[in-house]
Amino acid sequence: MKLKCENCGNSWDYQGKSKWYLACPKCKNTININELTEKDRKR
Ligand SMILES: [Zn+2]
Repeated sequence: MKLKCENCGNSWDYQGKSKWYLACPKCKNTININELTEKDRKR
């Protein structure tokens, strides 16, 4: 799924297994995946 880091603006296609948190490959910012997918569902 496509993810975007709100810290540095980097976007990439994430194919890992984590459902909660991952680190941005660029700035190592921690991203809450669950929060992102929740937003998608409401849109
Ligand atoms: Zn980042």
